[in-house]
Amino acid sequence: MAQREDFDDGQRLDGMPRLGLGTWENTDAGTCADSVRQALEMGYRHIDTAQIYDNEEHVGEGIAAADVDREDIFLATKIWTSNLSYDDVIHTAKESLDKLGVDYVDLLYVHWPANEYDAEDTLPAFDQLYDDGLIENVGVSNFEPRHLDEAQDVLDAPVFANQVEMHPLLPQDELVEYGQENDVNLVAYSPLARGEVFDVPEMQEIAEKHDASAAQVSLAWLRQRDGVAAIPKASSETHIRDNWESLALELDDEDVAKIESIDRRERQVDPDFGPWN
Ligand code: NAP
Repeated sequence: MAQREDFDDGQRLDGMPRLGLGTWENTDAGTCADSVRQALEMGYRHIDTAQIYDNEEHVGEGIAAADVDREDIFLATKIWTSNLSYDDVIHTAKESLDKLGVDYVDLLYVHWPANEYDAEDTLPAFDQLYDDGLIENVGVSNFEPRHLDEAQDVLDAPVFANQVEMHPLLPQDELVEYGQENDVNLVAYSPLARGEVFDVPEMQEIAEKHDASAAQVSLAWLRQRDGVAAIPKASSETHIRDNWESLALELDDEDVAKIESIDRRERQVDPDFGPWN
């Protein structure tokens, strides 16, 4: 198996590893802690959770159990939409740190620009946490260019990343371009389209050509885009490893063109409060 040392060059964006482990719906205490530990011991250094996933404690247990130093891990969590008033951001961010068993997180996101979100009230709390050293970077999630423009106006800290759904069935070209022009990294969530990419014939053809899995093709394609990281969720060691080994897969121009020719468009995460609705 490829080792982490093989992957260091070009595999980080401003210090953020380009491949991380997602944990949404990984709520069983033992499974969640085990998957985080296994991923870290395999070489992953980026873990993604959120208040609403109700697993920050289990993620913290996995981190504590892994034979990896805290400082070597890029840990991200997200403030849920009901906690986005100034006081609730400060208070619940501290609760998240306690649950995770850490003194700081590397990235704290606004989960959605919805419900209690109000740029002028919410974002100064993120600046405060940043100034106090409780968060290393400020992130946003599910933001469109208009929200990003506003956030950049209000925040003193830079907007480090925008986490959005992204995969071959939802390439998000506009947001990728915005990120490149404004120095905002993109973190692709649901990078396997929650399994939907596996049945796409173009993905299967490319996978066969490289003796790889369709999951690996999706992750390699995302990695080869400028300014994009990805956080596939996997709870079994087989999937965690399969995704990790995508770091050894290089797609050629023909593969990339084939993926870009897929015209099926599908959004997997589409709540009524999504800003595009
Ligand atoms: P995903 O990563 O696209 O897909 C996860 C599904 O694919 C799981 O059923 C998993 O199964 C399976 N899988 C993983 N690796 C596989 C492999 N190599 N071969 C076959 N199947 C594989 O979907 P997601 O969980 O929606 O997105 C990933 C992460 O993004 C989330 O966990 C979360 O951290 C984040 N996210 C953020 C937001 C947001 O609003 N910011 C929204 C959605 C997701 P097993 O579990 O059985 O391994």
